[in-house]
Amino acid sequence: MGRAFVYVILGGGVAAGYAALEFARRGGYSRGELCIISEEAVAPYERPALSKGYLLPEGAARLPGFHTCVGANDELLTPKWYKEQGIELVLGTKVISADVRRKTLLTGTGETISYKTLIIATGARALKLQEFGIQGSDASNICYLRNIDDADKLVSVMKSCPGGNAVVIGGGYIGMECAAALVTNKIRVTMVFPEKHCMGRLFTPKIAEFYENYYTSKGVTFVKGTVLTSFEKDTTGKVTAVILKDGRHLPADMVVVGIGIRANTSLFEGQLMMSTENGGIKVNGQLQTSDSSVYAVGDVAAFPIKLFDDDIRRLEHVDSARRTGRHAVASILDPSKTRDIDYLPFFYSRVFTLSWQFYGDNVGEVVHFGDFTSSSPRFGAYWVNKGRIAGAFLEGGSREEYEAISIAVRREAVVTDMGELEKQGLALAIQE
Ligand code: FAD
Ligand code: NDP
Repeated sequence: MGRAFVYVILGGGVAAGYAALEFARRGGYSRGELCIISEEAVAPYERPALSKGYLLPEGAARLPGFHTCVGANDELLTPKWYKEQGIELVLGTKVISADVRRKTLLTGTGETISYKTLIIATGARALKLQEFGIQGSDASNICYLRNIDDADKLVSVMKSCPGGNAVVIGGGYIGMECAAALVTNKIRVTMVFPEKHCMGRLFTPKIAEFYENYYTSKGVTFVKGTVLTSFEKDTTGKVTAVILKDGRHLPADMVVVGIGIRANTSLFEGQLMMSTENGGIKVNGQLQTSDSSVYAVGDVAAFPIKLFDDDIRRLEHVDSARRTGRHAVASILDPSKTRDIDYLPFFYSRVFTLSWQFYGDNVGEVVHFGDFTSSSPRFGAYWVNKGRIAGAFLEGGSREEYEAISIAVRREAVVTDMGELEKQGLALAIQE
């Protein structure tokens, strides 16, 4: 049993949706030549909605409202759209092995799908507590959040304990966004994480202090510098308390876990060159892997960032997934006119009424600016490396201000006087 396609996109997430849009725009395929294979039962959607609009107590986002590519204010790619474009959606189908030399993929249903060109867009999986030796972490009221099934479970568990206690494990993106969503749903939240402050991979202690104070004002309790060791459960196997390494017991009606991800590379280990440092599939500026018929995009791809002197990075953010997805298709369909990708890393988050954006790299000396104390805060930071702006963060900015900081980073604005930079703050970017 088997099918043959010219182009196969493996994975049906954000990068896949934007790759499909680019194929449709360029029209470089015939009906039936292109397919998306996805383990998920639904067409590609904007994953960021799962920890934001999807969890709202009222007027929550639901499909088809947030299929790709609405997140970039582009078309809404519903199943009907794929049909009209002649793109086959092979949904609810897991690929269990890949043979790069033979150009075939084997699905869990025993079908062999062959391709001429493959785009790997398998994204990443959430790390599980059992991988850290925690027993009993498959209880019915412990939630992870990577896909729509996880989000449905989270919503149903949340609705089962109105006014109850949630323990959120992890102080990264999932932890912060889910804690805010739980509070909005009137659930009491305690956040537990090993670092000294939240968002340790990006925030400075000063920036983190602002968000922690804000969350505290919304009723969130922080338990920092420790990890959980086990759970207390009732006779039905539901978690009733979380036990920490320092001996504390935290009552819990539900637990949300966000302790990082691993890129889904396993199908291609030993077949394609990997980036051992970044844990992804190594690609060049055309998003092409060590096999010229295979491309990799999104969370799974480790690609060169021109602005960082071609340093290889694997980014875990939606803008990068959208852009690499589209760029790979441009490279495939029009290689002579497609330059190497020149990507400016961009991360953002929205919680409560707050909203921040970050561009570039958080390396070097940090200068903070703006008002960290007002009820409508507008503050930020520059990272200065080798006398130039390497990264910029802004909370509460306008569209123009965000654009201005992104341009300052893109131009690697020269900084001669750190004191002056601190005084100028946002004005430096706006004057640029
Ligand atoms: P994914 O979107 O994860 O898609 C991977 C796809 O591959 C999935 O459909 C999966 O089922 C499929 N797949 C994997 N293996 C197989 C297989 N063997 N066979 C078949 N199919 C397979 N980023 C931001 O910048 N801002 C945000 O606000 C933000 N919010 C987020 C909120 C949540 C809850 C999550 C989980 C992530 C968020 N992100 C955010 C990160 C962003 O969503 C990811 O960077 C982006 O989804 C990566 O796109 P991708 O296509 O590479 O992978
Ligand atoms: P993150 O890497 O952002 O954060 C993981 C957090 O868990 C860190 O605080 C980490 O601490 C902590 N941690 C690690 N191991 C343990 C442990 N054993 N016990 C307790 N805490 C632990 O990952 P998330 O899970 O929050 O997010 C998953 C993915 O989703 C990321 O790729 C993220 O980019 C994406 N996402 C992005 C969003 C956005 O961009 N707005 C929103 C939501 C998700 P330490 O640093 O010390 O390891």
